[in-house]
Amino acid sequence: MNAPAAVVKQHLIDPEICIRCNTCESICPVGAISHDSRNYVVDIDKCNWCNDCISPCPTGSIDNYRKVLKVKAYSLAEQLSWDVLPAELSPADLVADGASGEAEPVAAPEPAPSALAAPGEPVFNSAAYGATLPPWSAAHAYTNLYGPKAAEKSITATVVGNVRVTEVGGEGGSDYDTHHVVLDFGGMPFPVLEGQSIGIIPPGTDDKGRPHHARQYSIASPRNGERPGYNNLSLTIKRVLEDHQGQPVRGVASNYMCDLQVGDQVQVMGPFGTSFLMPNHPRSHIVMICTGTGSAPMRAMTEWRRRLRASGKFEGGKLMLFFGARTQQELPYFGPLQNLPKDFIDIHFAFSRTPGQPKRYVQDLMRERAADLAQMLADPNSHFYVCGLKSMEEGVVLALRDVAQGAGMDWEKVGASLKKEGRLHLETY
Ligand SMILES: Cc1cc2nc3c(=O)[nH]c(=O)nc-3n(C[C@H](O)[C@H](O)[C@H](O)COP(=O)(O)OP(=O)(O)OC[C@H]3O[C@@H](n4cnc5c(N)ncnc54)[C@H](O)[C@@H]3O)c2cc1C
Ligand code: SF4
Ligand code: SF4
Repeated sequence: MNAPAAVVKQHLIDPEICIRCNTCESICPVGAISHDSRNYVVDIDKCNWCNDCISPCPTGSIDNYRKVLKVKAYSLAEQLSWDVLPAELSPADLVADGASGEAEPVAAPEPAPSALAAPGEPVFNSAAYGATLPPWSAAHAYTNLYGPKAAEKSITATVVGNVRVTEVGGEGGSDYDTHHVVLDFGGMPFPVLEGQSIGIIPPGTDDKGRPHHARQYSIASPRNGERPGYNNLSLTIKRVLEDHQGQPVRGVASNYMCDLQVGDQVQVMGPFGTSFLMPNHPRSHIVMICTGTGSAPMRAMTEWRRRLRASGKFEGGKLMLFFGARTQQELPYFGPLQNLPKDFIDIHFAFSRTPGQPKRYVQDLMRERAADLAQMLADPNSHFYVCGLKSMEEGVVLALRDVAQGAGMDWEKVGASLKKEGRLHLETY
């Protein structure tokens, strides 16, 4: 009998939404990305999963993966011919193709294995449950009105506000300096929805003399403007002063944005995003789970629902917010959140580094509210949104799985319906 073939997770680019901005190719340290006049593609033999290309991609098209038999990995020629990504192969398809029916082996270079997966257990793939479709009642999102594919490569916005939304603490609190920046588009059209993002093009060039690539930021204000009726929007931007390994660094775009003065002009691309959108039907429930600046889209959705409620013309469902940060001082919008009526939104904070207190993460809070979340999981009118640091995603989806299983539900069925019905949205960076 032949030995079972190895299964690998292959990194791929979604040709439907890629805006061919070349960011990923210019960033990849090992030359794994290339393109022709049609598509950007990833060479499985070169990609070492460093993830450098993920957060700079303005559309999220780079953040795609398929499990395949290593010997049947998609070649560059195949990828160059695609108009859409191929469908996911089910575990049964893989086994039929010759893969082991046991825990799926992963033979390609992978990111660090999950701390949550016990040795010998299959790696939990949280991304597999994330929807790529919006909720059925979401409004139509306009995308890529300004950018590489559009007639206008960028739009000029004027800064009309820039305030810090985290407390100052310690030695000036610079490690948790987060700003609320308001941009106005004047007479130019820039229609957005809650959950979408925009690209900011920092001025100047990088250390190789190339223009800086655009960085993506989630919109923190509702569709009718930070100030209702104005053609403006807000962003929640954390000043990056150290890299993911804790080494000192001065993030190009985040520092540029946090230092802007009222009246300054900024080059913007977008809007981007067609699935992380809120439901619009009456009595639809929204569960928001976020860390740090992942609160931006949650602020947008909450504020839109607050405005609808104030209008008296819309019967909203439940809103639940699970919000994590290292400390209260680091949590953006802590003060304003406290002022929201308790019968409007059910808010839970988790702080992982409060001196003298046990570490608490959003997953811990979710498990404490398992009974309510189980009801939400079972209700097709509820939608779940996860946004923040990449490292939170798996723990949050595992918590949802545990809640479902604790209530006697079949997680694979629940997870599949969340994905299919556009009810679980993951945006982590
Ligand atoms: C879909 C999406 C939405 C996003 N929304 C927001 C948002 O609402 N608010 C926000 O502040 N950011 C958001 N980001 C992150 C943002 O796009 C930038 O990556 C971030 O601001 C860093 O850019 P920079 O130019 O300052 O740093 P760079 O100059 O690009 O990077 C400097 C160094 O810092 C590291 N680094 C990059 N990002 C971070 C980070 N977040 N924390 C710590 N180290 C980092 C890099 O690896 C690099 O080593 C989002 C990203 C994505 C993909
Ligand atoms: S993950 Fe790293 S090695 Fe792979 S394509 Fe992206 S930048 Fe290149
Ligand atoms: S960075 Fe994203 S949008 Fe730009 S070329 Fe790469 S995959 Fe496409």
